[in-house]
Amino acid sequence: MNKRIAVYPGSFDPVTFGHLDIIDRASKIFDRLIVSVFVNSAKKPMFSVAERVAMLKGALKNRKNVTIDCFEGLLVDYVRRKRTRVVVRGLRAISDLEYEFQVAGINRTLYRDIETVFFMPRQRYSYLSSSVVRDIAHFGGDVSMMVPRNVAKAVAEKKRLGS
Ligand code: ADP
Repeated sequence: MNKRIAVYPGSFDPVTFGHLDIIDRASKIFDRLIVSVFVNSAKKPMFSVAERVAMLKGALKNRKNVTIDCFEGLLVDYVRRKRTRVVVRGLRAISDLEYEFQVAGINRTLYRDIETVFFMPRQRYSYLSSSVVRDIAHFGGDVSMMVPRNVAKAVAEKKRLGS
């Protein structure tokens, strides 16, 4: 088992500068970081899984040790399949901690050796979330300060198509 591979799971609907900040930090600590879009059929996302993967790939094309993937089902099973035990998550504020603490605890009951490692983004991204981006886009606001250029384009295109 390779301890230096980490998995960063999330919805990434869409990826923001906050996520990219976490990816930057984590990819400097681990040999390989797998950023993986969680396929959650219970949620109605703004972007399809394929679109989210493509946006991540577009935003991360110069990072050699970062790969983009997607998964369905339990995170612990996916992490095992990737032959690692390290999960990366971001903490924007104390308010994130309650939920993250619960998920990390549950994951540990399902997979005893799993470790969840938290990174804090730069303060300027601590207010940023995908849902804020979606809300602003919905009302025709400018999200170019919050997301990479390829994502801002994709958001504008979605809006233009009326979804
Ligand atoms: P999920 O639906 O799994 O929470 P998200 O895409 O919203 O997926 O977030 C994935 C991870 O990235 C979570 O750990 C979340 O706290 C973190 N994250 C989201 N936005 C930011 C941000 N602006 N700064 C740092 N971490 C963030």
